[in-house]
Amino acid sequence: MNFSSKLLEQAVAEFGRLPGIGQKTALRLVLHLLKQPDTEVSRFTEALDRLKREIRHCTTCYNISDAATCEICGSPKRDKGLICVVEDTRDVMAIENTNQYHGVYHVLGGLISPMDGVGPSDLQIDSLIRRVEEGGVQEIILALSATMEGDTTIFYLYKKLKGFGVQISTIARGIAFGGELEYVDEVTLGRSIATRVPYERNIA
Ligand SMILES: [Zn+2]
Repeated sequence: MNFSSKLLEQAVAEFGRLPGIGQKTALRLVLHLLKQPDTEVSRFTEALDRLKREIRHCTTCYNISDAATCEICGSPKRDKGLICVVEDTRDVMAIENTNQYHGVYHVLGGLISPMDGVGPSDLQIDSLIRRVEEGGVQEIILALSATMEGDTTIFYLYKKLKGFGVQISTIARGIAFGGELEYVDEVTLGRSIATRVPYERNIA
């Protein structure tokens, strides 16, 4: 593309770096923003600025949160003895949308992937084990994707957690977790959590 302005070119390049945004879409978005009143654009840039500067992770479950303890962990209505382990915050959002899960979560922040150089220490695994060590946990649901990385992570967590005397469950395979889970319909997802099975039965 031949740009008539360096500033325009720079802005298009930044938008074009976002996932799923090509050059043409980037240009359309930038031209759209240019047409907006200053206050609109300020609100947009401020939201991005504050997002990165002020957002935190819950110190218990590591979900994205505005406070040190997220609303789910802080709620007296949630069952703290039931922990659903997920890859990222999109999975929490999808499961919350089912309105059928009343336990708490633990957000790993990814999956074990030797190919991508992601090992257990890069994820929130030690913090999960600490939660279990502290006691009061009856069941852990491993709600991770049915991919090689998901299976590797589930098996690793199972080995780490099986000595603690907690029930370890997995949800029906075939549900696309981790990013794709947000597209699964709520009824199917809710049912797959309700009909979860002990992990031992899956590897037997
Ligand atoms: Zn939390």
